Amino acid sequence: MNEPLTPGISAIQQDRQVCLVCNMDSSISENPEICPCCHSDIAPRIKRSQQKTWALLITAMIFIIPANVYPITYLLKNSTLYPDTIYSGLITLIRNDQEGIALIVFIASILVPIFKILALAFIALTVHFRWQLNPKKQFIAFSIVEWVGRWSILDLFVISIMVAVFDKGSLVSVYPGIAATSFTIVVITTLFAAESFDTRLIWDSNNNAK
Ligand SMILES: [Zn+2]
Repeated sequence: MNEPLTPGISAIQQDRQVCLVCNMDSSISENPEICPCCHSDIAPRIKRSQQKTWALLITAMIFIIPANVYPITYLLKNSTLYPDTIYSGLITLIRNDQEGIALIVFIASILVPIFKILALAFIALTVHFRWQLNPKKQFIAFSIVEWVGRWSILDLFVISIMVAVFDKGSLVSVYPGIAATSFTIVVITTLFAAESFDTRLIWDSNNNAK
């Protein structure tokens, strides 16, 4: 039976690590790489967590530009192709008295992705430069990012609602534009960036700086 951990000191400083498969905690020095219980690979921290998070975040930062600049949908109406960016789509919705849907699209397509990228980059920077912040608040911020991320895929459904709104009795064909692909890349990379970030690094950077 393992000794209970002392609160206020990180497990790594107490020579302890937890297996992410079976939840068994063991000594780092006695079982450096293999879980003694289920024999899975084990490490006190996610390997190369910061590098993975940054690589995915930078990809998201790049793809958010075409997602906003290029057309997200093409409407084929009376043999004319109408391109729509996120912004022109918003304006069309407002002109058609669909302010409610416009607000959802604005939050899901513009506010949420930008907030997620900035918040994750900020948390990753605080860990990288070991800025002295309240780790509990950092952890809450990270939890919000993770929670919001689960809903960001909703935007792709909102785009379909937008398409339905445009279609008022006339025969319309809709094609996804380059921004739709870019937007999907932003959603997926930010999800994985949050996933690969090891939140325990927040406590490490605060512990070691003291
Ligand atoms: Zn295990």
